[in-house]
Amino acid sequence: MKHLTAVTFDENARQALLDPQLRGALRNLATVFGDRRKVAVTTVPDWEGLRERARAIKDETLAHLDRYLEAFADNAAQAGAQIHWARDAAEACGIVLKLVRERNANKVVKSKSMATEEIHLNEALEAAGLFPVETDLGEWIIQLAQETPSHIVVPAIHKSKRQIAELFTEKLGIEPSDDVAVLTSAARRILRQRFAEAEVGISGVNFGVAETGTILILENEGNVRLTTSLPKVHIAVMGIEKIIPRLVDLDVFLKLLPRSGTGQRLTAYQSLITGTKKRSAEEGPEEVHIILMDNGRSRMLAHPITRQSLACIRCGACLNACPVYQQVGGHAYGSVYPGPIGAVITPQLIGLSKTAQLPYASSLCGACREVCPVKIDIPELLLHLRSEVVEGPASSMIEPAGRKPLERFIFRAYAFTWSRPRLYEWGGRVMRVLQRLAMRDGRIGKVGGFISTLLPPLGAWTAWRDARPLAPRSFREQWRDQQKDH
Ligand code: SF4
Repeated sequence: MKHLTAVTFDENARQALLDPQLRGALRNLATVFGDRRKVAVTTVPDWEGLRERARAIKDETLAHLDRYLEAFADNAAQAGAQIHWARDAAEACGIVLKLVRERNANKVVKSKSMATEEIHLNEALEAAGLFPVETDLGEWIIQLAQETPSHIVVPAIHKSKRQIAELFTEKLGIEPSDDVAVLTSAARRILRQRFAEAEVGISGVNFGVAETGTILILENEGNVRLTTSLPKVHIAVMGIEKIIPRLVDLDVFLKLLPRSGTGQRLTAYQSLITGTKKRSAEEGPEEVHIILMDNGRSRMLAHPITRQSLACIRCGACLNACPVYQQVGGHAYGSVYPGPIGAVITPQLIGLSKTAQLPYASSLCGACREVCPVKIDIPELLLHLRSEVVEGPASSMIEPAGRKPLERFIFRAYAFTWSRPRLYEWGGRVMRVLQRLAMRDGRIGKVGGFISTLLPPLGAWTAWRDARPLAPRSFREQWRDQQKDH
């Protein structure tokens, strides 16, 4: 499968709009998860208060992240975990590879983790001759299909049951069947064998508790529990923003995250891991390694507007609510993080030069902000990034997108004209004449009429929607007429 990039969001989106199967799958996602979320929210007496509390905890943590990270590292080390620090993706992959190689291991299982997707860990391990097996059903399907996830929580949402059945027949040699029970039992049989053989288990982390050095991982399939307890070595890759101060804070996030993501009151499994197993007879790994990864997060932390991006708990609710994501799906974003939060995080992770279209992949309707359990103001972030695209990176350290001379010229001319009343009025008159030349199928000057085709470059607007023509007389002219009459 061709892997899309964020550089070509517009083109990717056009292709996605032509895919009826994808559109059907996405409609389902929005209604199923969106509706379930609405019901789940009503089971919490003070949902808004809970959101406020979560945001306050995140803000407090981010304001003192250095202190909380040190406390987490100390407490996790005291419980027997080994802490590693990674500045970027290459360092994080290098640490994982070194740990696996030093143990002469070649059987690696993995649970779903956005952090490991972000650093392209599987590709790094495969380049070194290791083939980690994804154990989350959706991730495993994606791995078999050699595709990338299209949703933070439901990675294979773009695939239909029929497509999965065909994939299993082709890759696993099972009899063709569209019975979900048959497909899942085939997956279970094969994955159980991988778990039994595994020497190293790799996971992500949902929350790291500074007070105790505990990591929490949420899931529904039980594969995380097997990944983190059956192999002798467990490696957890964790972004530094996953820290929360106290164990009691989990109460807030455990109420918010499952309800926001999948509309569940609680996920089926919550694995709380504090260091290694304490006695040889106990279950659990003999070694626990936690890789604390920066990979651009310090840059986000440094700026007062972008800092809130780090409050994200990866619930996926903003994707389900977003009218753009609902139409084009996750692959169009060409990045590991799709949807509204992807349009915000990806430019900050890899720079605007490769992602300049993403901050524009939004109608700014605010649906994402409405559903976000930690009250991230995504539209504000998108506008901030748009200003970075146009003005350059004066206010942050994000790699610039490169300026577009024509666009800059147009906006400067616009600002120049709009700040001079006479010029503005004269410009309006000229535009009213010119629009008669530019209009092709429009009903000229008719109140309530529309222009359906404008000449380039304004034709980019009317390619997808109609434009209103300027009124035959401006407000100022009508005002003057009225004054004369009195
Ligand atoms: S931005 Fe908010 S809604 Fe979107 S994934 Fe993050 S926490 Fe969830």
